[in-house]
Amino acid sequence: MRVLLVGGGGREHALALGLAGDPAVEALVAAPGNPGIAAVAQLREVTPTDPAAVAALAVEVAADLVVIGPEAPLVAGVADAVRGKGIAVFGPSAEAARLEGSKTFAKDVMTAAGVPTARAYTCEDAAAVARALDEFGAPYVVKDDGLAAGKGVVVTDDRAVAERHAAECGRVVIEEYLSGPEVSLFVVTDGEAAVPLLPAQDFKRVGDGDTGPNTGGMGAYAPLPWAPPNLVDDVMRDVVHPTLAELRRRGTPFAGLLYVGLAITPSGPHVIEFNARFGDPETQVVLALLETPLGGLLHAAATGTLGAHPALKWRDGAAVTVVVAADGYPAGPRTGDVITGADRAGIIHAGTRRDADGTLRSAGGRVLCGTATGPDLAAARDAAYALVRDVELAGAHHRTDIAAAAVDGRITIPG
Ligand code: AMP
Repeated sequence: MRVLLVGGGGREHALALGLAGDPAVEALVAAPGNPGIAAVAQLREVTPTDPAAVAALAVEVAADLVVIGPEAPLVAGVADAVRGKGIAVFGPSAEAARLEGSKTFAKDVMTAAGVPTARAYTCEDAAAVARALDEFGAPYVVKDDGLAAGKGVVVTDDRAVAERHAAECGRVVIEEYLSGPEVSLFVVTDGEAAVPLLPAQDFKRVGDGDTGPNTGGMGAYAPLPWAPPNLVDDVMRDVVHPTLAELRRRGTPFAGLLYVGLAITPSGPHVIEFNARFGDPETQVVLALLETPLGGLLHAAATGTLGAHPALKWRDGAAVTVVVAADGYPAGPRTGDVITGADRAGIIHAGTRRDADGTLRSAGGRVLCGTATGPDLAAARDAAYALVRDVELAGAHHRTDIAAAAVDGRITIPG
């Protein structure tokens, strides 16, 4: 199987490692890729959001499967363009990707499907914003309606901050606050059959103790020792299958990766958000534990044959990833700084670039992450932090509490 992987962040580096490790994958091309991915794939230039350019590249490299990592190409219709060339693609159509591209669309689907989620209003002016904030009370949850790379959400007790964010975004979704620990569940689907991966937890806030602004994610771990034993089955029954059925009913089946972001509230799991692709950085830990060859799994989802795919196999133990972010991230990351200690197993590249002379430099807000497995969560955590300690990058910062509460048994479900 010849595979073209679209994207160039940490998620794609993790996907590239998984695909390269699949004996059925005889050639792996990544576009545009990154210096970490370059170790396991041939890199090609492409604008990932240009449907015609990606489809042409897929034809040129004779891809049997195209795997689309990020959300922006999906929303732009890249999967449709590749499918139009008769090539199997892992990633939903632009229509189905609206599950991530529009919070209003996602709420509409959830309501129609009877999926448990926060009550919400879409607001387009200050009066509607004020009414919604009054109704739900603090803490206030205000979300940009469009794609915002995980940074369009403000959760705050400060009414003025909530109102200001709403005014800056224009069209927003304001919703009820959901209390309880968060879970990310990835589901591989061909539109009908659906296979859950291991639940993971990520850390959205920039600072230790969940302080500071939201980011794209500062670290993750899997599995979740504190999760209720029936969590995955419940979410498949109450969330995933009803959502997939509703999208089929609308004539826009969702095939690809359905990311279900959940809060485990006193009244059970509620959906915080859907994404239409693998989450970053949870992919790094989930795929580190997946023993089943990745290419075959994604190909089955892309070709409507997932129902016949063998049950997934997982490695024992746990995985932890710790993101190293650039100075100034998330507000205004500084780029161009020299990085040392990053060319080693377990370092996943996210925002890096390499000079002609081989010097590695920062090129984004989330620069890289240290990903490690271990016989248990504590061992995986120690190993991930050991990786991060050996990386040098001026002004870099990382959270020091990734997976700490889970290791210490401090995560509880309220109620
Ligand atoms: P989202 O981009 O929708 O995942 O939101 C980013 C983060 O904001 C989530 O991971 C949560 O930590 C938080 N968040 C979003 N919606 C809610 C909600 N209704 N209640 C509590 N926290 C929320």
